Amino acid sequence: MQTLRIIVPAYNESGCIKPFYDAVEPFLKNKNVSSTYLFVDDGSKDSTLDEIKELRKLDKRVNYISFSRNSGKEAAMYAGLKASINQDMAIIMDSDLQHPPYLIEEMLKKHEEGYKIVYTKQSSRKNEGFFRRAWAKLFYSFFNKHADVPMEQSTKDYMLIDNDVIKAFLDMPDEYRFTKGILSFVGFKRYALEFEYVDRTVGKSKWNFKKLLKYGVSGLNQFSDIFLVVPTIVSILSFLVAVSSVVIFCLNIINLEAFLILLSTSILFMLTNITLYFILYVLYSNRRETMKRPLYFIEETSLDE
Ligand code: UDP
Ligand code: MG
Repeated sequence: MQTLRIIVPAYNESGCIKPFYDAVEPFLKNKNVSSTYLFVDDGSKDSTLDEIKELRKLDKRVNYISFSRNSGKEAAMYAGLKASINQDMAIIMDSDLQHPPYLIEEMLKKHEEGYKIVYTKQSSRKNEGFFRRAWAKLFYSFFNKHADVPMEQSTKDYMLIDNDVIKAFLDMPDEYRFTKGILSFVGFKRYALEFEYVDRTVGKSKWNFKKLLKYGVSGLNQFSDIFLVVPTIVSILSFLVAVSSVVIFCLNIINLEAFLILLSTSILFMLTNITLYFILYVLYSNRRETMKRPLYFIEETSLDE
């Protein structure tokens, strides 16, 4: 029988743990898999860990890891995967029941059909606030224009991944982890399931606009050379100023002294930014080297070794 690990990051989720377990259990019963839970308590300050320990008293399939301090959901997911490297498959899901457990059945079915990743997408964002929706739209369009690998909009950190994919995720050594980017980067045969937005019933979201912005910018930075755009734009602007200074001098709008100052400053700016572009380019190349991301991930082979 194949093994399945349910990985659940949880930060200050008191009141959510038992309801989460009760909601998920029916979808694991009578399935052809041997399932266990791994709660990753991300340094909660409330009774989350106690509630997980209580649950473990009821069911020894419930395991936990507890962080010494709040280290972020990405670190929690990574720790969960690291501890699940020997599992045939893992499902990562939130503890607040915003990731509907009924999808587990379909995930298992698709995995049986041979899909190594069964990920999820939220079919509408209409229940989210205006700013969050606008930010998401802007972020995805910007990301997909500039990133190394395109990322689908509205994907959630709710997914089933096969053992090969668990290993691929762990092989990605990124310190600033961005699971949605990693999900796109690793490839593998995948299938998307859609679900309608579900409101949180207990507690509140741990994300605010500032945290989301930081997370998004860091994710974009991890998967693109986006900051090269800054010296490019400044050099183009400086070039345009240099050209306009010639035009306005010829039209007698400025005197020779002003013209020379404007022209030399803009040329200097342009040259500095071209130099900056190359320095950044070298830094980005070095980053690729030092990151040591795998060059490829093998999905199938006829070789034994
Ligand atoms: N979470 C975490 N560490 C954090 C923030 C959140 O482990 O620093 C967990 C949280 O307990 C929940 C999941 O990540 O299980 C998603 O968090 P949240 O519901 O706040 O995010 P949202 O659903 O609003 O995107
Ligand atoms: Mg949530």
